Amino acid sequence: KVRVRFAPSPTGGLHLGGVRTVLFNYLFAKKNNGDFVLRIEDTDQTRYVEGAEQYIMDCLAWCGLTPDEGPLVGGKYAPYRQSERKPIYREYAEKLVMDGHAYYAFDTAEELDKCRKEIPNFQYGQAYRHTLRNSLSLSQHEVDALLDAGAPHVIRIKMPTDENISFTDMIRGHVSFDTNLVDDKVLLKADGMPTYHLAVVVDDRLMNITHAFRGEEWLPSAPVHLLLWKYLGWEADMPQWAHLPLILKPDGHGKLSKRDGARLGFPVFAMNWFDAKTDELTPGFREIGFLPEAFVNLLAVLGWNDGTDQELFSMDELVEKFSIDRVSKAGAKFDFEKAKWFNAEWIKKSEAVSLKSNVAEVLADKGIVVEDEQYLLTVIDLIKDRVTLLPDFYTQSIYFFESPKEYDLAAVKPKWTDAKTTFFKAWADKISAMETYEATGLEADFKAFMEEQGFKMGDVMLPFRIMLVGGKFGPHVFDIAALLGKDETVSRIEKALG
Ligand code: GLU
Repeated sequence: KVRVRFAPSPTGGLHLGGVRTVLFNYLFAKKNNGDFVLRIEDTDQTRYVEGAEQYIMDCLAWCGLTPDEGPLVGGKYAPYRQSERKPIYREYAEKLVMDGHAYYAFDTAEELDKCRKEIPNFQYGQAYRHTLRNSLSLSQHEVDALLDAGAPHVIRIKMPTDENISFTDMIRGHVSFDTNLVDDKVLLKADGMPTYHLAVVVDDRLMNITHAFRGEEWLPSAPVHLLLWKYLGWEADMPQWAHLPLILKPDGHGKLSKRDGARLGFPVFAMNWFDAKTDELTPGFREIGFLPEAFVNLLAVLGWNDGTDQELFSMDELVEKFSIDRVSKAGAKFDFEKAKWFNAEWIKKSEAVSLKSNVAEVLADKGIVVEDEQYLLTVIDLIKDRVTLLPDFYTQSIYFFESPKEYDLAAVKPKWTDAKTTFFKAWADKISAMETYEATGLEADFKAFMEEQGFKMGDVMLPFRIMLVGGKFGPHVFDIAALLGKDETVSRIEKALG
């Protein structure tokens, strides 16, 4: 059975790239009737950030990427938080030492700092292996004495010299590494916690993970992981790897970063992230008014397509159409204007009922509480084609809830005449006397009256709109008038005529 995992470290908010990694894992799992596992990789206590795990879970929930197993739902392979699995890892690190694939290292932080300062491009192991204080340079007797005395130590992998390690990546094909260029990574830290490298391999194995999708930034770690799979004797069960292409800055120069968002004025995080340590708020797609459907859709096509020109995909369609062969090797440029286009399209596509709570929230934020649900649904239907971000629902619909406070006088004043005043006064009286009041009849009546009075469309249509709406925007003016109702329309005409 296909089993994939998303294995974030709770170090902050989720960047676009992180959510896309979740999405591709999820789509691959669902497409193959597999399981999607969420595993929290929180073994690095120095990088742990309060609230980040909750953020990740909220974000998955918002995007509709529900894990089949994870810290919240549990599962057969629980616990799913690495910090709660601490006792599991030591045994594997010690086995590696016994088998000669790893070793104890007793260097102090100061000794290591000194090396980093004095030796350019210092890498632990390789040429420097024997100058350091570890079980490869000390005698067995010295090592035993240090261990017996409880000297602080870590366990490091022993990278072989002059070897070539390779594997087949589902996206990148054949990838190979020269072991001389990889340092002896720490596997078990002085506090007994595993590092990411050991924990990711042990847990992928123990949780029976079959396929692992992760960002391209993890490619340099792959040789360490490949060797661990081999040294632990699990090579036959190693998951198939796919390293996903980077999401690039809009100009294509380098990886999109949190700073680019701030500089260019768009979010790169899924949801608002507040970092209590720095007091810094990083804005999110959700809060600026993206629908989760649009967010998921735009992420899916950053680096993937279905081979046709289709751009809009629902989650169900993505599950049906996703295939790893169509994920590109090249990085995908992020284009915020295009991202907004996806949102506008999704708002258009959505039923008014499904937008209702979002719109009510946008309005409530501005102090407008709509009690008549049917009225709100009609408003949404009338204007949703004009909305890009959810807060636009306010600017596009405010006149349905209160009469305009200002008028775009520049648009009507220069051509205003007393005859027009007379026309609109009489038009208001006509409306008052109407027995039925709906858009089509209203339009016919307006046109007939206009012709009778010797006006053309260009003379009176825009003024009518501005009386109702305040400006040159909004849907069909007779739809607006009909929805506002007879009394309100009359009162707005009178108010505008002053
Ligand atoms: N814990 C790693 C991260 O923070 C996971 C990388 C992987 O998927 O192997 O992204």
